[in-house]
Amino acid sequence: MSGPLSRREFLASTAATLPLLAPAIPHAMRPLRPLPPSRWAAKPVVVASANGLRAVQKAFDLLIAGADTLDAAVEGVKIQELDPEDDSVGYGGLPNADGVVQLDASCMHGPTRRAGAVGCLENIKTPSEVAKLVLKYTNHIFLVGEGAKRFALSYGFTEEDLMTAHSRDAWLRWRANLNPTDNFLDVPDTERLTTPKTGTINCNAVTPQGDISSVTTTSGLSWKIPGRVGDSPIIGAGQYCDNDVGAAGSTGRGESNIKVCGGFLTVEHMRRGMKPADACLETLKRVVAATEPRLLDERGRPRFGLSFYAVNKRGEFGAATLYPGRYAAHDGTAARIRDTAYLYQRGN
Ligand code: ASP
Repeated sequence: MSGPLSRREFLASTAATLPLLAPAIPHAMRPLRPLPPSRWAAKPVVVASANGLRAVQKAFDLLIAGADTLDAAVEGVKIQELDPEDDSVGYGGLPNADGVVQLDASCMHGPTRRAGAVGCLENIKTPSEVAKLVLKYTNHIFLVGEGAKRFALSYGFTEEDLMTAHSRDAWLRWRANLNPTDNFLDVPDTERLTTPKTGTINCNAVTPQGDISSVTTTSGLSWKIPGRVGDSPIIGAGQYCDNDVGAAGSTGRGESNIKVCGGFLTVEHMRRGMKPADACLETLKRVVAATEPRLLDERGRPRFGLSFYAVNKRGEFGAATLYPGRYAAHDGTAARIRDTAYLYQRGN
């Protein structure tokens, strides 16, 4: 955490940012309510997957300006959703086998103990925001497909083509190389675009009040069977939050996470006293134990990648991966990429 701000510095920085930030959070869970450092109950932190460096910076700035924990996390991950260069999330995400981008997202809001999620959402760039609207405005938790889209449109979202030149090219190459005897001629795949890719952003935020939220958003596994949803929109798998304990989320092979309810399990490990990184490692051990032989190498190690990220109510945080990996965190001093704890070294 950064050295304590003086009251004057804090008020000055808050006064400068408030008018700019206030209109920027659509459907905010609550208005900005800055807390003077003398009354901080927790160390504010934001933790995300490695593609979330900008997300943790944005979310942390919002937390310090007094934003609600979920508002901050969602505004953070929206940077990746709207970025055409990130082909694992939102706009520009790699499509399914039919060439259609289907997005999944879920979130939990610690203070109100509510949850929201969308699955197979098409033509809407920011599924994390739609998941927040499900959480905020409905008596439901999970909307999918056409219904999720109509729900989003009713709140003023507009339909947009989510394919970019890059994502369309990648899909066309995958399709061309799919079957050597079909009528599409195979094309060179130097960038290995045809190998199914995963990618997602998870973000967990703790406010100075000690309130916690989590959000996960993804375009899922590339070239997936239409209709497939992974772990990201599943409450308890892609993310989970308990305001009394902490929050955890995941990226990587969703099918392996779903079977162990990894977000929930990681929070339960923390409830029993484990530190965040240890809790993530413990969940990964459970994943390995639950893995089918076809997905293990000759030494019993997974042939896939899976990561967990966690924060607790005191503002401690950590992450773990099957093999050495990285994650993003803002610990109060700076937004930084850090190394994860891990179960196995790569190679021998
Ligand atoms: N977990 C996501 C899914 O299975 C993908 C990923 O994180 O890479 O849909």
